[in-house]
Parts: sequence; C-alpha cells; structure tokens
Amino acid sequence: MTHIITSLCLRDSGCVDVCPVDCIVPGVPQGEAPWYYIDPNTCIDCGACVPACPFNAIFPEHDVPAAYTAKGGEYISRVGLTGHYEGTNEHGVKVTLDTVKQLAAGETVDLTLDTPANYAYFEGGPGYKANETPEAKAARGG
Ligand code: SF4
Repeated sequence: MTHIITSLCLRDSGCVDVCPVDCIVPGVPQGEAPWYYIDPNTCIDCGACVPACPFNAIFPEHDVPAAYTAKGGEYISRVGLTGHYEGTNEHGVKVTLDTVKQLAAGETVDLTLDTPANYAYFEGGPGYKANETPEAKAARGG
C-alpha cells in the first residue's frame, strides 16, 4: 500500500515537510508533472501527509475516489487543462499553475486516473532527482 497525491494538489509542499521517510517530491518540469508525487515503494502509509495538505489532495491508494464530488471552488490540475491558478505554498513561495480547472459544486471527477502518475514519476520519470532541480529549491524558499 501507499498513499497517492491526486490532481487536487496545488503544490503547497507542506506534505514534504512532514513525511518521515522523505518520499514526496515535486513534479518537474511543472508543465509535464503538475503535482507533488509519492514514491509508492518507500511510503510507509503513516498518513502524516494527509492532514498537512490544505487541498485534501492525498488519499490512501485504496481510498482514492473514482467519483470525487466537488464542494465547489476547488481546482484540479492536470496536463491539458488551461485554467490559471495563483497561490502561495507552505514556504511563502508563489505558486502559478496554467494546467487547472476550477470545479463547480456537485461536479464529479475520477481521481483514480491520477494514481498511475505517482508510480510513473519514480519508475521512469525524474523521481528523487527532482529534489536537486532549481524548481524544487525555489519551492523550498531557496
Ligand atoms: Fe510519507 Fe506517510 Fe504520506 Fe507515505 S503516508 S507519503 S510515508 S507522510
């Protein structure tokens, strides 16, 4: 088992700070990997990241909702979407995303579509190398 970060992630990064096994990394380049990602082979399922996420984007793998019902106003962030989002992450660093869509109340989204991205990011993607990129250092406040 592992936990999964879904496309409700808006790159807050607070999850990174609480993970006891340092298995959460930022997606780079952001345009191709818009969220943060959990290494499924290292995650110990402690659950500490779940309450640390202000966007409620993290779920135990088996609880990722296939029909997430939006409260209204929250965003999903996926490659191919074209909406714009600006916010501030856990470290006070500005976050800008151009791959979002704001959800209407009652709209349903299949968040299980986001699960493979967490595996792929470590199985053929940047994985932990992302931590050494200028983007990751900037997200930590330099
Ligand atoms: Fe890290 Fe625990 Fe979250 Fe897994 S469940 S990513 S070990 S904080």
